[in-house]
Amino acid sequence: MLLPCAADKPDPAIPAASCGDEGLTINMAKFYITTPIYYVNARPHLGHAYTSVLADALARYHRLKGDEVFFLTGTDEHGQKVERSAKAAAQSPQRFTDELSQAFRNLTPALNLTNDDFIRTTEDRHKLGARELWRRAKKSGDIFKKKYAGLYCVGHESFISEKDLMDGQCPEHLTAPEKMSAENYFFALSKYTPLIKEYYARHKNFVIPEAKRNEMQAILNDGLEDISISRETSQTSWGVPVPDDDTQVMYVWFDALTNYLTALGFPDESAPLFKKFWPTDVHLVGKEINRFHSLLWPAMLISAGLTLPEHILVHGWITVDGQKMSKTIGNVVDPFELVKNYGADTVRYFFCRELVIQNDGDFSYVKIEERYRADLSHELGNLVQRTLTMVEKYANGKTPPPSHGEAAPYLESYQNAMTIFALDQALAKVWEFLASLDKAIEEMKPWVTVKKDPAAVNALLYRLLESLRLAAIMIAPVMPETAQKIWTALGLSTLRPESAILKWGGLKEGTPIKKGVPLFPALNK
Ligand SMILES: [Zn+2]
Repeated sequence: MLLPCAADKPDPAIPAASCGDEGLTINMAKFYITTPIYYVNARPHLGHAYTSVLADALARYHRLKGDEVFFLTGTDEHGQKVERSAKAAAQSPQRFTDELSQAFRNLTPALNLTNDDFIRTTEDRHKLGARELWRRAKKSGDIFKKKYAGLYCVGHESFISEKDLMDGQCPEHLTAPEKMSAENYFFALSKYTPLIKEYYARHKNFVIPEAKRNEMQAILNDGLEDISISRETSQTSWGVPVPDDDTQVMYVWFDALTNYLTALGFPDESAPLFKKFWPTDVHLVGKEINRFHSLLWPAMLISAGLTLPEHILVHGWITVDGQKMSKTIGNVVDPFELVKNYGADTVRYFFCRELVIQNDGDFSYVKIEERYRADLSHELGNLVQRTLTMVEKYANGKTPPPSHGEAAPYLESYQNAMTIFALDQALAKVWEFLASLDKAIEEMKPWVTVKKDPAAVNALLYRLLESLRLAAIMIAPVMPETAQKIWTALGLSTLRPESAILKWGGLKEGTPIKKGVPLFPALNK
């Protein structure tokens, strides 16, 4: 699957740019995926859970394929907004961020995430790397000091231009900006416009999906502007100190983005994790922070002499019952509550199946319960139970001799969809596969056929069992617990990369099945 990039001569101006062809290529030996680090001025909500589940499903998929995977998440803890929220809660910023960071960390067990690390930007290992990146950018001549005055939105943690205001307020934060003048450090982002344009030209799938790439391309065509990357400590002191200047701390984004490096051990470029996993294969981000990852981040990396990421994968937002989540409307959904009610696998399935990565999606209790009843309980759960019951009845509870199946087209479509991160399409293929099995049962009616042609029934039963084995592998990245339950029911041990090969014929004749309780019992309502 690794496509060569022979046609692509690396540009010496872009350090160690990787394979630049048209396809979605990933270095198959390793896979480094990140969520954004979550900003800790409020508790985790549905959107955070969604991002983390998408990343986890992709991480699990690559692990099952046998790739070496590093999956990173964490919390972004600096900035004036956190400082003010802490003050409002009558806590020190450190204590405030300790508590909220832990709430985000709790997403891991709740959602059954497999992140390999959890980084906090208040950790020393992070600050060390963030400061080193600053020094490198300075050495490249990209950091300079500038005086300016304007309107500052605390919500944005940046200046906002008069023309973007609505009735004197920031339209996003609905607060009036504050008049401010400052002398800050700037990063020479404008200088990188041509290099980044070129990187986009050579990496057609750097930003996915295309619509989001086009948005970035439009900004690039207008030309990037230099950005302020520090704040005076008189304004906010809750940040990473600027090297060689105690009067300033880093702008929260300039500090936060470097987490993807510092978690791997940067600035020590000989650190084992850094050597193995850098550059990132997929930075998964919400659309509101796309430009930081797709325009600023590459410039910072080029400035510091580092390799650029392969893909920025941009997902849409989740609304609840068609409305933006907000405390005022009172429709904020607590992911922990959701998992308690429906189980982690169901929540994960909903995120990956009902919501399409590149679009905005909608959550409602009606929709998640419909998915539970129709897809999980009826189509998957019943098929498993029905198959096992027939194997007990007609084959002494043991796997019959191998027979043919029609899995190949489904397996192929599934893999193609996963390669382009289309989890919803991949799952849709699995459910088509399940439907084809249901149809085969209805057509043969084993309870009738068994009397005159037991061999035909045995052949069907093998086909069903083997197909369920393959389906379990395919759903494992999204529903790991369910996949293992199916695997166990088939008389297999632990679902591991060595055994998770998507190829017909893995089940051995005579393997005793272990029929358990139904996978998705009726919801008690
Ligand atoms: Zn704002």
